[in-house]
Amino acid sequence: MMDNCLFCGISSGVIPSDKVFEDDLCFAFNDIAPQAPIHVLVVPKKHVDSLDKLNGFAPEVLGHLMLKTSQIAKDLGVGEEGYRVVINTNGNGGQTVYHLHLHLLAGRPFIFPPG
Ligand code: AMP
Ligand code: ZN
Repeated sequence: MMDNCLFCGISSGVIPSDKVFEDDLCFAFNDIAPQAPIHVLVVPKKHVDSLDKLNGFAPEVLGHLMLKTSQIAKDLGVGEEGYRVVINTNGNGGQTVYHLHLHLLAGRPFIFPPG
């Protein structure tokens, strides 16, 4: 847990959120400013700044995040119709919260490449 980190606060329950899923390794909650009918953020409970700062971060936790994101999409009923998973990274990637998170976006079509 890192002090002054919004998503550490949310995943530890100190800061309220609209929780979708939780286990020992990860926490998933609805984005406060959804960009699609379904917009869930999936975060590791262990703090890491970004995809650019993974030195020493447990690879099994990264795999776990992917597997749980896939399961959450299924549970929300959008697995078959499809969805998009995004990890914004650093400045050009549009990252605004520096605690690694996967965006699960669904419920409408998405264009590619994104803007
Ligand atoms: P990113 O820009 O990829 O770093 O994504 C950060 C995301 O966190 C944005 O989609 C925000 O809308 C979302 N966000 C910021 N504060 C909160 C909050 N308190 N609860 C839920 N989502 C949040
Ligand atoms: Zn954090």
